[in-house]
Amino acid sequence: MFTRKIGIDLGTTNTLVFIPKKGIVINEPSVVAVSLMDNEILAIGKDAKDMLGRTPEGIRAIKPLRDGVIADYKITSAMINYYIKKASRLLRVFKPEIMISVPAGITSTERRAVIESAMRAGAKAAYIVKEPVLAAIGAGIPINEAVGNMIINMGGGTTEIAVISLGGLVSWSSIRVAGNKIDQAIAEYIKRKYNLAIGESTAENIKLEIGTAIAHAQNEVAEIRGRDLITGLPKVIEITSNEIPEAINSELREILRAVKEVFQNTPPELSSDIINRGITLSGGGALLRNIDKFYTQHTGVQCTIANEPLFCVAKGAGAALDNLDVYKKSIMAKKS
Ligand code: ADP
Ligand code: MG
Repeated sequence: MFTRKIGIDLGTTNTLVFIPKKGIVINEPSVVAVSLMDNEILAIGKDAKDMLGRTPEGIRAIKPLRDGVIADYKITSAMINYYIKKASRLLRVFKPEIMISVPAGITSTERRAVIESAMRAGAKAAYIVKEPVLAAIGAGIPINEAVGNMIINMGGGTTEIAVISLGGLVSWSSIRVAGNKIDQAIAEYIKRKYNLAIGESTAENIKLEIGTAIAHAQNEVAEIRGRDLITGLPKVIEITSNEIPEAINSELREILRAVKEVFQNTPPELSSDIINRGITLSGGGALLRNIDKFYTQHTGVQCTIANEPLFCVAKGAGAALDNLDVYKKSIMAKKS
């Protein structure tokens, strides 16, 4: 039988579409290009990002989920519509069943808006589940057991920390410190230490190339091009990977504080489960070198990186759709 199921991860940075048995079929930036003149939507996803580089004037880039909340209904709804249509075309299906991940802090009005957007885009049925729950499912955690599991999902805009038991969130926190803030911290550090101005995407590249959460033996070097803040001229400097932990220390500490807070709000029996089972890391931030060691060191609980951390939420959405009965307790809203 051919599939009519579509899982969507509406991330702060990337939107992914997952089809059971096919895998990730769409992976595009969560960006919408809007004309400044009349607020008209010009492009969505990859096209929107490409457009921004080439047509600097008169176009505004909107990241509708940037802070882990739905900042703009109209734009979010257009984005949902775009991805559902695109996936339906790819799969040649009408009326697919759709599972969408939503930020853990979503309000009931926002929930309805997401469901309605999916139905308007042609869904036969639409379901929504909170992102950390889907991340846990996608990471292979048996969330339905009466046991506490902790997941730290580090994305671009937000980090969510959640304790899940019996299919639901027991305690959780979402903070606006994640990949983007880490990039900004790297840029700030280079400005302070070397008087060199660099852009955020350069900072992100440094993170991807040589970034590490704790200093390590294989100290790598990266060449950085930027603008000298004193002379105003272009300048090239070298930075080593072991400078990065210092640059991003206060961001990582802030995430740690949130982790501790979640532990404080977790019943002791479940905390004891987490000590036994360890903490799972997902999201793009889990790919920062030694981030598992960092959290293990500072929490005293073994932390493990999920398999394919960038895909956990999307895979979880697909798995939840494929096993609606198993995960029915986790579904926050549905319409069919
Ligand atoms: P979201 O769910 O918020 O859209 P993602 O889970 O897709 O976010 O993660 C995006 C973030 O992950 C970005 O900040 C990106 O820089 C970061 N990231 C991706 N790959 C790596 C890597 N190898 N090392 C460190 N950070 C990474
Ligand atoms: Mg995400």
